[in-house]
Amino acid sequence: MNSTPPQVRDSSPDAVVVGSGPNGLAAALTLARADLNVAVYEGAHTPGGGCRTEELTLPGFFSDVCSTVHPLLAVSPFFARAALPGVTLRTPEVAFAHPLDGGRAAAVSGSVAETAATLGTDARAYRRLFGPIVDHSDDVLDAVLAPLLAPPRHPLLMARFGLRALPPLTWLARAFRSDEARALLAGLGAHSIRPLTEPGTGAFAVLLGTTAHTVGWPVVQGGSARIVDSLLDQLAGAGAEVHTGRWITGLDQLPTSRVTMLDVAPRELLSMAGDRIPARSARALNRYKYGSGVFKIDWALSGPVPWAAEACRRTATIHLGGTLEQITASEAEVAAGHHPARPFCIVVQPTVSDPTRAPDGKHVLYAYCHVPPGSKVDMSERIEDQIERFAPGFRDLVIGRHAMVATEIERHSPNYVGGDINAGAATLRQTIFRPTVTARPYHTPIPGVYLCSSSTPPGGGVHGMCGYGAARAAIKDLGIAP
Ligand SMILES: Cc1cc2nc3c(=O)[nH]c(=O)nc-3n(C[C@H](O)[C@H](O)[C@H](O)COP(=O)(O)OP(=O)(O)OC[C@H]3O[C@@H](n4cnc5c(N)ncnc54)[C@H](O)[C@@H]3O)c2cc1C
Repeated sequence: MNSTPPQVRDSSPDAVVVGSGPNGLAAALTLARADLNVAVYEGAHTPGGGCRTEELTLPGFFSDVCSTVHPLLAVSPFFARAALPGVTLRTPEVAFAHPLDGGRAAAVSGSVAETAATLGTDARAYRRLFGPIVDHSDDVLDAVLAPLLAPPRHPLLMARFGLRALPPLTWLARAFRSDEARALLAGLGAHSIRPLTEPGTGAFAVLLGTTAHTVGWPVVQGGSARIVDSLLDQLAGAGAEVHTGRWITGLDQLPTSRVTMLDVAPRELLSMAGDRIPARSARALNRYKYGSGVFKIDWALSGPVPWAAEACRRTATIHLGGTLEQITASEAEVAAGHHPARPFCIVVQPTVSDPTRAPDGKHVLYAYCHVPPGSKVDMSERIEDQIERFAPGFRDLVIGRHAMVATEIERHSPNYVGGDINAGAATLRQTIFRPTVTARPYHTPIPGVYLCSSSTPPGGGVHGMCGYGAARAAIKDLGIAP
């Protein structure tokens, strides 16, 4: 990492933001809208962190380097306020699909009742699990996307959500009998990147399943970088400055300001702040746990993936890994430090609903699987074998490839420690208290310095709520009316 100390401006900004991921930009925009003079310093040469789009495989094929699927953006109170002019969401007919051997698949589309009707003997259990939450999804999602320590506006509803969400995914699945329904829950729960036998993994299934019914799982036309373009336009309109190619290694490199917002992981906060963090707080931040990494591969394809199951051809997102038992075994292997022979994969085919990302008739596709932290193992073959299992003939369509091992994911954004795309493991404790056990998760021990990355509540994903929450904490401290 090259460290180029930023130029101190003639007039010092009111607020400095380090890092221009969705949370850094959400913080910057919230501060700028409170009439603060904002400067953003980004280490990479392009802004956007986990929201960048590049021609990774071949010219004319636009792949998202990290995030592509945006249900969390669609339900985010921050993005509802930011409005995102210039961003068009393309929502596929099927929110996500989960193929099984023999050409079968489970799929979520439309209402809870419509999906339940495809699940045979499990229709009633599916309605019982999702019906009450989806009926009150606005309140549930608002509460879950706020710091969990904030008192809930609807305590009974949240207690009901907690009862369904807190157990391990494997407990939640006990109410279901068919391979299809059990696999569908496992695929959702595996977004936690935790063993499915751990408490809290059920929450991922309930929350993400709810978004599938309320907003679908959309992609952004042209790629996720359009989100960043829109936020940058709004920041420019508010008079904020964004500097790229400026890695910050110490807080003393920053211009003097009333507020410093850090879109970084706790590990980087500690190294940037040095001995300005008291020993006790440093110990607590050092105890913060990072999770497993990911290995990601992008392809350019000469045609659509020949999925055996028809539902898989009508969605952008596919959970690959077979049955609940197979996915549970794969995730347990990763947690034990191994690289599974048949990994659980999240496969994303955005060109199904956004053909603008590739030349006519051609497609972009990516998949990632979970690997032990800091892994340098290339999982390309194993992922392609998993795709061939459910889409025979897939390899014949590949005309370009680009792979990133977990350590390269970390090079892309230092927040992804060891390749952990959530900047911190989603253990039950770190889902509630993030990064440390405190009622003020965005404050650091240094007055005026705040953490706003996905290492703070509500955690990983493109929702901007970490940045928004941190900026609101700073605005409150400054005594500015919201
Ligand atoms: C492969 C992959 C797939 C994903 N898929 C999805 C998805 O489909 N949907 C979804 O919602 N989420 C997805 N995510 C997660 C999502 O991208 C992240 O949760 C989100 O980007 C976090 O935003 P952030 O602003 O906290 O951090 P980041 O987006 O990581 O941004 C942090 C920024 O800060 C900069 N920075 C860090 N340290 C410094 C420093 N010292 N000096 C200067 N700059 C610094 C970094 O360069 C980076 O630009 C995915 C992530 C990955 C890696």
